[in-house]
Amino acid sequence: PFSKLSDVGTTIFSQMTQLANENEAINLSQGFPDFMPDTELLNYVDHFIKKGFNQYAPMGGMIGLKEEIARKIENSHSAVYHPDSEITVTAGGTQAIFTAIATFIKKDDEVIIFEPAYDCYEPTVELFGGVVKRFEMKAPDFGIDWNTVKGLINEKTKMIILNNPNNPSGRILKENDIQELISIVKNTSILILSDEVYENIVFDGKQHLSICKYPELKERSLLVASFGKLFHITGWKTGYCAAPKILTDEFRKIHQFNVFSVNTPIQLALAEYMKNEDHYNHLNRFFQEKRDFLRKGLADTSFELLDCEGTYFQALKYDKISDKNDFDFASELTITHKVASVPFSSFYKNKRNENVIRLCFAKKQETLEQAIENLSKI
Ligand code: GLN
Repeated sequence: PFSKLSDVGTTIFSQMTQLANENEAINLSQGFPDFMPDTELLNYVDHFIKKGFNQYAPMGGMIGLKEEIARKIENSHSAVYHPDSEITVTAGGTQAIFTAIATFIKKDDEVIIFEPAYDCYEPTVELFGGVVKRFEMKAPDFGIDWNTVKGLINEKTKMIILNNPNNPSGRILKENDIQELISIVKNTSILILSDEVYENIVFDGKQHLSICKYPELKERSLLVASFGKLFHITGWKTGYCAAPKILTDEFRKIHQFNVFSVNTPIQLALAEYMKNEDHYNHLNRFFQEKRDFLRKGLADTSFELLDCEGTYFQALKYDKISDKNDFDFASELTITHKVASVPFSSFYKNKRNENVIRLCFAKKQETLEQAIENLSKI
């Protein structure tokens, strides 16, 4: 009777990582790099801790870091955010998403999400009394029929949550998707929460189309990004939310009571490290090599490799190998073949795509080689 989220258990990422550890399997389930971040970045943290920067940061974030974030956004997308009043440093992408939803969603407000969807959106909306309306993107191409999306909109629609590039499908939004979105939200007061934590991991020369590139969308959007994905530091739990002042003012009312502020020496270190753009501009290439290595290694297996345009996740269809559902198949793969993955249907309310699993390729060469070897024996 006291549970506010009675349908929710432990996240699939924690579950699969635990199963991987128990079975000493190669963990390609939870999305995190298994290699070290750059020593230069580590040294900056050490430096600032020893210099005595160990007390609270300002509530919205350290100004030096917010300036670097604003500079990165402007260089990448020609969009201008005022560092002090429009950027808030958060304890990772998930906290930014939670706070954005907490800030704007009231009882009976409707929120549109696109499935496969990252696991935190729906429970957070429900926690604040909101109602989720979903559009299911279907394998293998995960396209969006914007007419159907338009049909989900009514006077109660408060927010649309986007995740671009999409975890777990690896698909990115195209110009026509954005234009359709613009026409749908025109003359409404719908807000957009745009989870772009994989913005710097897009392949084959394709362009990441950030929401902030489009003034009609930027003015109503909260843009969420993550240093965990950018600099291989998911455990540092640092990210940010960029939004027009009118939205940021409200966001910070909640942020100040949610976390108040974020790790001081880490913010200082990130600010220093971000001054060199090469530290993030090489990321597309870096992960594309890993993607290609994994895909090439699995090309001769009976797995079907779905397209991967961005993120560090590869979706695999396994219907030629097993008719088990994806949860059972992922368990079997972990226990018997020692490779842990994430069952795709966990990203859907109605358990769609039950013959697809997700592999994380943000891993060392040896890890990928070992995983390919194991998977090739099936
Ligand atoms: N973003 C990571 C993933 O998709 C997981 C983060 C988490 O474990 N909550 O795998």
